[in-house]
Parts: sequence; structure tokens; C-alpha cells
Amino acid sequence: MNIPRNVIQALGECARVKEKEPLKTYTTYRTGGPADLLVFPGDNESLSRIVRIAADESLPLTVIGGGSNLLVGDKGLEGIVIRLCEDSLRKGEIVLLEDGTIYADSIASKERFVEFAVNLGYSGMEFMAGIPGCIGGGIIMNAGTSMGAFADILVDVDLVDSGGNRTAALIDRSMSSYRKMGIGDGAIITGARIKLSRAADASRVRSDIEDILGDRRKKHPLDYPSAGSVFKNPDGYSSWKLIDEAGLKGRMVGGARVSELHTNFIINADGATSRDIRNLICLIQETVFQYFGIRLETEIKMVGVF
Ligand SMILES: Cc1cc2nc3c(=O)[nH]c(=O)nc-3n(C[C@H](O)[C@H](O)[C@H](O)COP(=O)(O)OP(=O)(O)OC[C@H]3O[C@@H](n4cnc5c(N)ncnc54)[C@H](O)[C@@H]3O)c2cc1C
Repeated sequence: MNIPRNVIQALGECARVKEKEPLKTYTTYRTGGPADLLVFPGDNESLSRIVRIAADESLPLTVIGGGSNLLVGDKGLEGIVIRLCEDSLRKGEIVLLEDGTIYADSIASKERFVEFAVNLGYSGMEFMAGIPGCIGGGIIMNAGTSMGAFADILVDVDLVDSGGNRTAALIDRSMSSYRKMGIGDGAIITGARIKLSRAADASRVRSDIEDILGDRRKKHPLDYPSAGSVFKNPDGYSSWKLIDEAGLKGRMVGGARVSELHTNFIINADGATSRDIRNLICLIQETVFQYFGIRLETEIKMVGVF
């Protein structure tokens, strides 16, 4: 899609802009074609302006955070892609508020958030240890583990709505479900207030986190690019078990492989394309359905043109 010059210029006044930028640099799968226009807003006011410009020009708009739950098509993403993740030029703020809650910009990494909270002697955020990406992506995905998820600790979020207005939303658990936070179509999270509890023993929290990270290193194929668990667990089942029992461990399509270490991970084993990964996803879904009559639903988000 060709984006008119005057629009690129207007966007360039409120953000860093890269044309036809390959998204494989911004996804943990290390795959994905170009964004017509990749923009990096410098602040939330700029973000509002970008959303308004996209709406006025009827241009497709996609938000990406750390790209750790994304499979972007090899032919890329049309329209404007907004990247909301900290990098060497912009860090997300994380601050302790007077009421004892913690405010985190959506671009802050989960890793820094966990470190900040541990240093203050809090607990309740241990589930976040080892989950890549940013706070915003974690909120939208209601990311978590069996130890907890974002919905358990969120008080409220600041956001930019689809009209470019800056607003806020209180969060209650009824808005969340398994790997999903229902905040409203097109809502872009800019920050969140998070409530944690005081740890009875702060050094214990730190050692628990070390254990969690050690466990992940043992159980997850972290030497290869991936996007974590590919499929949600169907009620009463574990996806990894179904995939394993269907004989798919190690199965390859092109450069994509079902991890031998954790069968709910598809790894980019050898120069995989997004299409290889998507085709392997389809193969797994068909095979598991043939064996068990269960349809596996993807946890990862597939966007763009394959
Ligand atoms: C090795 C590995 C282990 C993982 N382990 C876990 C795990 O234990 N538990 C778990 O839940 N996940 C896990 N994941 C998946 C992933 O890390 C999480 O879903 C993570 O929270 C995604 O954050 P992100 O910033 O990378 O979001 P992205 O992947 O960039 O985006 C995910 C979704 O959120 C949207 N989004 C991103 N930022 C914003 C924003 N600011 N406002 C609105 N929408 C936004 C995107 O449009 C997209 O739909 C793992 C991934 C990897 C690679």
C-alpha cells in the first residue's frame, strides 16, 4: 500500500518513521515482512496524533510491543504499524506512587518491572518473570502462568482510544479471560497502575524468581527464536501433551520445527519463514483434530499478509 507523502510528512512531525521496514527485526520469531510505515511515537500526545491521522486517512493501524507473541506474514503489514516498546532511544517510566501502587508506562519491559518491584520488597509479580515483551503487550494478552496473570494485579490503565482520545479504564476481573483482556476495540494501552502486596520475606521473592527463570531455561527452547506457547490449552487438556501424543514432536515444515523440549513451542530452527510456521500450525491443528477431535486455538497472534 502506498501511503501519501503528505501523510508520511505529518507522521514524521510526531514520531520517528521508517518506510518499508522489515518487521523480522522486531519479532522474537525473527520472521515477518515489511511494514508500509513503522512509527515510534516519542510520547503519548504523539501517539494520539498518529491514531487521528490514521483514522482521518482511513489507513490500517497495527500496534506491536516486544513482538514476542506475534507471527507477522512474510509479505508484511499494510498501513501504519506503531511500535510501543522501549529501546535505546526511549525507556518506559516505572514509578512508585504515594498510595503504594506502581505506575508503569506500557513500553516498559516486564523484566525491568519485575526488578523494580523486587527491589521495593513487593510480591505478586513473580508470574511475569521470564515472560518477554512489554507491559502493554502483557496487559492486552493478559499474559501469565499458573502462578497468576496481569488481571490479578491491574488497578487501571491509561489508553488512547480508536478516535485518538486519551482516556482511562478501571480494570476488573470480569474484563479478562484466558490470555485476553477486553479493554475495547482499538484501545492502545499507554500505561497502567499495578497493585502488589508487601512481601513477608523479600529475599525469598528474589530466590523464587531465580527458580522460575532456571525452570524456564530447563523447560523452554530458549536457544531458538520462538513466540512461546503457540496454542491455548483447551479446557481440561494440555496442548503440549496432545501434540506430543499425536506424534508431532520434532516435526518440521521448512525451517520451522515442533520443539523437542516443549511441544507447544514451534521454533525457528533453520531460517524459517512465517509461512513455514503458519503451515506447521495448520498441520498440528489438523493432526490433533484427527487424533482427539479437539480443535487447538492459537495463543499467538497472526497478522499481515502471508
Ligand atoms: C520464550 C517465550 C516465553 C513466553 N512465555 C509466556 C508465558 O509464560 N506466558 C504468557 O502469557 N506469554 C508468554 N509468552 C508470549 C508473550 O511473551 C506474551 O504474550 C507477552 O506478554 C507479549 O508482549 P509483547 O510486548 O511482546 O506483545 P506483542 O507480541 O508485541 O503483541 C501482542 C498483542 O498485544 C497487542 N499490543 C502490544 N502492545 C500493545 C499496547 N501497548 N496497546 C494495545 N495493544 C498492544 C498487539 O497488537 C498484539 O495483538 C512467551 C513468549 C516467548 C518468546
